[in-house]
Amino acid sequence: MQKIIGTLGSHCSLQVLKGAKDEGFKTLLITEKKRYRVYQRFNFIDHIILVDNFRDILKSDIQKRLNQLGCILIPHGTLVSTLTSDEIESINVPFFGNKFILRWEADRNLKQKLMVESKLQVPREINSKSDIKDLCIVKLHGAAGGKGYFLASDQNGFDEGFHKLLNDDVVTNENELYIQEYVKGVPVFLHFFYSPISGEIELMGVDRRYESDIDGISRIPSKHQLNVATEPTYNVVGNIPLVLRESLLEGVYQMGENFVEASERLVPPGIPGPFCLEGVYNRDAKFITFEFSARIVAGTNLYVSGSQYSDLLFKNNMSMGRRIALEIRNALNKRKLDKVLT
Ligand code: AMP
Repeated sequence: MQKIIGTLGSHCSLQVLKGAKDEGFKTLLITEKKRYRVYQRFNFIDHIILVDNFRDILKSDIQKRLNQLGCILIPHGTLVSTLTSDEIESINVPFFGNKFILRWEADRNLKQKLMVESKLQVPREINSKSDIKDLCIVKLHGAAGGKGYFLASDQNGFDEGFHKLLNDDVVTNENELYIQEYVKGVPVFLHFFYSPISGEIELMGVDRRYESDIDGISRIPSKHQLNVATEPTYNVVGNIPLVLRESLLEGVYQMGENFVEASERLVPPGIPGPFCLEGVYNRDAKFITFEFSARIVAGTNLYVSGSQYSDLLFKNNMSMGRRIALEIRNALNKRKLDKVLT
């Protein structure tokens, strides 16, 4: 049966479907009615399934329709932030990549385990607010896009931040927060693609995020900063391209390879497709990984026409979305689709 590449209409769907079209696939978007006016502008989208809510993808009639169309679903951040891991695993439509590793992205403990097994250097975890002795970042569980994060240097700072979130109905309980050493340096996001068909790992791009309001703080003179009442948060509003010093690339590839190897060991079949290592280069240019995403990240939207790194590997303008479609095409040609789907 002819395959069609589908995804939820949000996050990086334009890039994914444009890439699929460029590789010769039919494309399908599942999106909320309120977003239709945006997506109907793009002629590379062949089918649109309108739903009231992204959660409707859990409905059996929607899944039946997707399977009738021969849909391969590309998971991204919206799927991960809208559904629980159990719900994602229950979807009875073929996923590109390993849908079971998304649980390891969503659960902080599993996440930490995979990063440690990947021999990545990670920030110290702080198990109790009474152990906060130095600058820490306090996070919410799950893919919150940095919203609601706050910094604390001691227990009082933690309590203050927690009560703000409590009053704003963001959390109900301290256990919903996760405390991590704040790593001083510059945040960097490394976009990888692993191909089980070629056995190669590819660095496809690098970005940094543009986060409100932490990136806006430097625009306020210091004498006014102290009077800004609100705690700055880390809400991602966009992404900025970045190239690394070339001498850092060896370490980057090593981290990617270690991550692929550990994923295959801990969460078979591993990590076919895109993933992102997210961390901070400290003053010694050592990369401390604070997170990973086990699927395409929105930072790849920068490189719809390819990046400084994908240009070194491919003749065509190769976005991450197109790279996914190319992998599906190669897998189809070699009758190895089972290697890239779960
Ligand atoms: P995340 O949602 O975990 O990707 O983090 C959102 C933002 O918080 C990142 O882009 C960083 O700016 C910042 N951040 C997260 N964890 C740390 C950390 N351990 N040390 C310093 N900054 C961090």
